[in-house]
Amino acid sequence: MSEIIWSWSRLNTYHSALEGDGCFHLFNQQYNIGNRGENNYFAEYGTLVHEMTERLHNGSLIAWDIEDELKRGLKNFHYKVPFQKMRASYENSLFKFFDEFEDVFKDYTITQAEELKNFEVDKIKLKGFPDMFAQHREYGKVIGDYKTSRVYDTKKMKHNIMQLYLYSIPYYNEFGVYPDNLVYIFPREKENRERVFKFEIEELERTKQWVRDTVCKVLNHKDTWTPRCKTVDGKKDFFASQLCNLRNQCAFRYSCVHRNEFTPY
Ligand code: SF4
Repeated sequence: MSEIIWSWSRLNTYHSALEGDGCFHLFNQQYNIGNRGENNYFAEYGTLVHEMTERLHNGSLIAWDIEDELKRGLKNFHYKVPFQKMRASYENSLFKFFDEFEDVFKDYTITQAEELKNFEVDKIKLKGFPDMFAQHREYGKVIGDYKTSRVYDTKKMKHNIMQLYLYSIPYYNEFGVYPDNLVYIFPREKENRERVFKFEIEELERTKQWVRDTVCKVLNHKDTWTPRCKTVDGKKDFFASQLCNLRNQCAFRYSCVHRNEFTPY
């Protein structure tokens, strides 16, 4: 087997399955077998935000064209919003964010955006695409990330901030110092979109330990790759029915509701 290059997504997909928020079968299909499945509305929405942001930062899109580009981008989505009543909220916040784009980024000087970084924790090889490395007038050197979800609660923030701590490793490799702060920008918030966290070396150590532990768990995974839909109704469960990349091809999706017709995995 070729050497595994780990990523936040790979590690976190396994972690989510362990926590009961994801699916081991999905992890196995995606990362061991290479079945990437398909996209969904929320992922396309996130991609549109990232692409537009990058183009505005690198000057290949000008403010004048934003509205038309957003309309074009939305029209080209392959997936519909799962519930129609969500649509206005998602689209309105998108237009509002880009309408206020200059103001949101007025204090940032972006030095790098979405560049591939290869780095290591001990001998564990990792890769990632940090949304931005930047200099901020008040926060100093920052690593920033755009998230199109609602603002994380405290528990999720404590966990997900490790993605930015991971990116502080290639940041250090490149600049010889760690960032001063880690910043999340939540474009769907109407105002107060930033969440800023002071960089703490102890948190970096916690992140490295989580990487070691999670890699160890994946490599020593002895159980079957249990499908989430063995225990949840794949028609109603939001993860299985809307987010899961295999939702339209997975043989296990209705194994809970039709459990008598299924042989256990
Ligand atoms: S449809 Fe259900 S069992 Fe299948 S990969 Fe998705 S979450 Fe897992």
